[in-house]
Amino acid sequence: MTKETEYAIEVERLTKRYGELLVVNDISFTVRKGEVFAFLGTNGAGKTTTVEIIETIRTPTSGKVRLLGMDVTKGKRDIVSRIGVLPQGFNSFDRITVRETIQYYSRLFRCRNSDVDGLIELVDLKEKAQEQFKNLSGGLKQRLGIAVALVNDPEVVFLDEPTTGLDPRARREVWKVLLGLKNKGKTVFLTTHYMEEAELLADTVIIIEKGKIIAMDSPSELIEGNVNYMVLTLQSVGEKVFEIVRKMGFEPVHDNHWNIKVQLEHTDDVQKILNALKEGGASFLGLDVRKPNLEEVFLKLTGKTLHEDPAGEGGGNEPARRWRKSRREHQELLS
Ligand code: ADP
Repeated sequence: MTKETEYAIEVERLTKRYGELLVVNDISFTVRKGEVFAFLGTNGAGKTTTVEIIETIRTPTSGKVRLLGMDVTKGKRDIVSRIGVLPQGFNSFDRITVRETIQYYSRLFRCRNSDVDGLIELVDLKEKAQEQFKNLSGGLKQRLGIAVALVNDPEVVFLDEPTTGLDPRARREVWKVLLGLKNKGKTVFLTTHYMEEAELLADTVIIIEKGKIIAMDSPSELIEGNVNYMVLTLQSVGEKVFEIVRKMGFEPVHDNHWNIKVQLEHTDDVQKILNALKEGGASFLGLDVRKPNLEEVFLKLTGKTLHEDPAGEGGGNEPARRWRKSRREHQELLS
């Protein structure tokens, strides 16, 4: 039965087991209509399982999930016509054009009134409308994938890692499109490995770990509630700077070859460090003081960085891997 509600998604005590394996462990949350909701978690945390239960693809072991007021285990056909899904690594036919791709999926999903031009405009692909799929860059393919997810003018759009593998510029272009969706009043459920993406776009963020929700709030509340330090970055420093800061009782870490980062609890500490460096005759080229970000919240809550590449060297997202690599290189340089 459909119930009119302010929530696009209601998840109540959801559990999913695969045999002995408990993958989703009694989680509850709601997604308001019109919000961008981000799901964060390391690989194997249970994100895809949860999302695919909401999308009606998998069946829960126990618990209740309602999408637009409808029970996902019962109203599958009605639900599917009201949601859009961008799967991970969207792909299409090489030789058909952008416009033909949207038209094709529109016919496939039996959408009589798809606004093909409107969709092309929304994802900013007007100039590429006659381009074949195979000639599109990764970012353009993802934007086309978003257009395809919208052919049935869905109320709720699920995007599974929409910017993974894109360069920073292409990623920003996709963000623009996602903000456009939000402005159109769509509810967007986003799975992402990129903290800055969640921080920039999401109204609410859930961090899930081993099938349990360990945090749920707006990005700014999560940051304010969990990390109460600032991050000082000193650029182009030598070992002398590192040693002085360490001897003062702080815990500097190498950010890359020549930068160090220090967590500070008080603004006064910045001045203290600068004074000590001056007295010690240690130089650096620049400095930056910033508020903590979602990445640091995630690290604090899970003790891990987000796992992006299972085949990668020990996991972690791109900055984390770069950071580890440069730290290792730095240690090698020192040894
Ligand atoms: P995430 O999306 O956060 O990476 P998943 O939901 O894909 O996590 O997987 C959570 C856990 O459930 C993993 O340990 C995974 O191996 C397991 N899993 C997922 N799907 C199945 C399945 N169909 N059968 C058995 N185990 C599964």
